[in-house]
Amino acid sequence: MNELPHPAPLATGPAAAEQLGGYLSTAVREMSRWMAEFGPYRPHASLQVDETSFRAALDDLLGRLRDNYPFFHPRYAGQMLKPPHPAAVIGYVAAMTVNPNNHALDGGPATARMEREAVAQLATMFGYDDHLGHLTSSGTIANLEALFVARESHPGKGIAFSADAHYTHGRMCHLLGVPAHPVATDDRGRIDLDALEEVLRTGTIGTVVLTTGTTGLGAVDPVHEALALCSRYGTRIHVDAAYGGFFRLIADDTAEGVASAPFTAIADCDSVVVDPHKHGLQPYGCGAVLFKDPDVMRFYRHDSPYTYFTSDQLHLGEISLECSRSGAAAAALWLTFQVLPPTPEALGAVLRPGRRAALRWASLLGESAEYALYQEPELDIVTYLPRRRRLSEVDRVSAHVLETGMALPPDEAVFVATYDVSAAELAGRGHPVTADADRGRILRSVLMKPESEAHVSLLLPRLEKLAAAAH
Ligand SMILES: *Cc1c(COP(=O)(O)O)cnc(C)c1O
Repeated sequence: MNELPHPAPLATGPAAAEQLGGYLSTAVREMSRWMAEFGPYRPHASLQVDETSFRAALDDLLGRLRDNYPFFHPRYAGQMLKPPHPAAVIGYVAAMTVNPNNHALDGGPATARMEREAVAQLATMFGYDDHLGHLTSSGTIANLEALFVARESHPGKGIAFSADAHYTHGRMCHLLGVPAHPVATDDRGRIDLDALEEVLRTGTIGTVVLTTGTTGLGAVDPVHEALALCSRYGTRIHVDAAYGGFFRLIADDTAEGVASAPFTAIADCDSVVVDPHKHGLQPYGCGAVLFKDPDVMRFYRHDSPYTYFTSDQLHLGEISLECSRSGAAAAALWLTFQVLPPTPEALGAVLRPGRRAALRWASLLGESAEYALYQEPELDIVTYLPRRRRLSEVDRVSAHVLETGMALPPDEAVFVATYDVSAAELAGRGHPVTADADRGRILRSVLMKPESEAHVSLLLPRLEKLAAAAH
């Protein structure tokens, strides 16, 4: 690294492309040096491609990649999407040159160790003293593992989750052959504890899934209140914190943080899932599942005639359902955590501005002639609706704002997302909208980039103009 003349802070965004390129070539060169230590060999002719045709194909690729939404830009305030931190990109590419497989220590001891270290940092973040955990390729697979363990530890029992939980839970129950029990939500999109207790009383539930940050609204289930309830019925709790897990870092009850009670209560739950590829600055391919009781390892036990040679220590493949898994993803997370560890001061400071942006957005909507706030944001997701009398109109104007916003020239365009609600859900939140349709779209903005904060007061007037123009 010392060949870089002026060490500067590693910056993000398009302006830092040259710096990123510099670090990437350093990383690739250093890895090639290590490879060269094993002595020269002749690369096979079948792998050699003609340079001219490669350049043409690459040009084609780069051209095709322009067909994307600008997830990196603060004027993109739509779905849960943003580019990884440059540290993650550099860590990923460096490790990918070797392509280690974190299924087993034989597949890459260095990245397997990095995975253990990064997962231990996640366990500390959630307040687990002891843990069994590993990275996964996604939140879906991480939740599948948690529900698999739920089934194995309470055979024959069902799994309950809120109606607003991620659709993966219903699907995975189907896949695992476990009865699924959707539970009603309250008028803020959180699991209704009375409705939950009614289901628990049947004695058929082995595990309750709680979500700290629903994918749609960012609603946080009251984990702290559910703990006592579930322990009374001898029910396990799994927390789906795929989106919201890193908000644990700013769960401090301050004006720019989030409510602490549900997040600190995760420490007493049986398992938790978090997606570093959502709020952990990672490229896709990085979820994580953690169990409080390392003994659940017994459910994974298997023998393999072709893996596990080099160590008597447990291999990651012995505690996960997936086999091959990217070692580069572990290197990316590890390197990111070296410079932005999951602490309130470091990674917490990346989440806080988005939270402030959501609060500011919500308070500005209070004075808006065009939009009303759908419900108070609990995290960094804001939902809002055009002030129109009929639900069909709310739906039409929302769609108009979405479409006309992104059709503007690139340096003016605004990108939002829509969210489908029922007439009853609108009424439950006190919106005086005539139900001339059963359902309709409102608007939704996930403000997950720290840069969003500085753009709220620019974005809202643009969105108001778009709504006003939709007669
Ligand atoms: C994103 C998400 C999932 C699914 O995770 P993937 O990484 O997209 O597979 C599950 N639950 C919640 C709450 C999520 O936000």
